[in-house]
Amino acid sequence: MRSWETWDVVVIGGGPAGATAAARLAQAGLSVAVLERHVHPRPKVCGEFLSPECSVYLDRIGAGEAFRRLPATPIETVGLYGGDRAVTAALDPPAWGLSRFVFDDWLLRWAALCGAQVFQGYEATAISRVGDGFWVRARQVQDLRAVEFQARFVAGAFGVKSGAAVPLAGLDRPSRRRGGFIAFSAHLRCPALDRRVELYFFEHGYVGLASVEAGRVNLGGVVEPAFFRRLGGKFRTLLEYLAGQNRAFRKRMDESSEWTTFRTTVHPGFGPRRRVWDGVALIGDRAGCIHPFSGDGIGMALRSALLWAESMLEARADKLRPDAVPERYDRRWRQAFAARLRMTQWLDRLRRWPGGLAITLDLMRRYPSLLPWMYRRTRGL
Ligand SMILES: Cc1cc2nc3c(=O)[nH]c(=O)nc-3n(C[C@H](O)[C@H](O)[C@H](O)COP(=O)(O)OP(=O)(O)OC[C@H]3O[C@@H](n4cnc5c(N)ncnc54)[C@H](O)[C@@H]3O)c2cc1C
Repeated sequence: MRSWETWDVVVIGGGPAGATAAARLAQAGLSVAVLERHVHPRPKVCGEFLSPECSVYLDRIGAGEAFRRLPATPIETVGLYGGDRAVTAALDPPAWGLSRFVFDDWLLRWAALCGAQVFQGYEATAISRVGDGFWVRARQVQDLRAVEFQARFVAGAFGVKSGAAVPLAGLDRPSRRRGGFIAFSAHLRCPALDRRVELYFFEHGYVGLASVEAGRVNLGGVVEPAFFRRLGGKFRTLLEYLAGQNRAFRKRMDESSEWTTFRTTVHPGFGPRRRVWDGVALIGDRAGCIHPFSGDGIGMALRSALLWAESMLEARADKLRPDAVPERYDRRWRQAFAARLRMTQWLDRLRRWPGGLAITLDLMRRYPSLLPWMYRRTRGL
């Protein structure tokens, strides 16, 4: 086994949360290693809707201006659909549509520019506590060669699933409390859907359409596994089912062409998780996962990364004892996200409740300020 030098921080996962934490800490002069099991750029199952506050968080790592130069499409209106009901509202401030293929690769490269050492194609397999630091065991995905990294601090930014059969010291045990979902996405062309996001809700999940770069549209969503199996496990059948329920969706499907194949993953479910596990800080989706219809997961990933990194830097500046970092991070995380997570969970319950979706959409039609209020409230604007 090859042993690598000691780092101040090892970040496991080079998605939006990991890249942001690494960039912030490297900028402050810490030695940071990022382990990412894939080699970017890589596609990811996601709606690819970037909430407006993402650029504010990216400003905090000096990347805001570079981000605004990326070929993202501004998204200025939202349409919500359920059965025969529809509500439309302006998005103020506008959001962006940008594929994860472009965004994640760009952000990880930004972390490297800030001084973080990025190890792509390295999968972390175990973390162990040694003295007042950690050993992170990893393997090179290509040739399965084992490597060890020693670090003073470790952040788990590996998303809801750390993939492979990764026994990250018990972190990956599936929760029995939450129901899982099948999550899926594909790209297509639909010129009529310009600068717009549309969410189509049904009893067993939702499907979203959002403009992304280069005139493409992302189609993404989640569906309950039992229902999906009843439809024969085919995404085309699921879309046909939805088109049969909703004329607006049928129209969009008729207008669409040049589909890519569907990417899919099993999602363990939404809600808060642990923020700290045996001294390891958990950030991004790993700390808590908001329902994707809110379009706020990436914004939360960036912000939670900053909350942790800034708590670490306060400890370094002697404003805080190092052992007080987890508690401070946990408290800030709850202040920032707990109410938002509760609200989206409550909205999702309402969607599943018979008549709940129709009542919600009717209320939104009657009170036009309700949807813009929810848009702002679910992303802390
Ligand atoms: C269907 C669906 C649609 C969504 N749509 C939206 C949307 O439109 N807008 C939005 O804001 N959010 C959306 N989300 C949520 C969003 O995708 C997540 O919130 C976001 O990706 C979280 O970022 P992260 O960095 O925490 O985790 P991830 O993006 O999951 O990144 C984790 C990284 O860690 C790496 N990794 C995992 N295990 C290991 C390991 N053992 N060793 C090394 N590396 C590892 C992975 O390869 C990955 O690159 C959606 C989610 C789903 C399921």
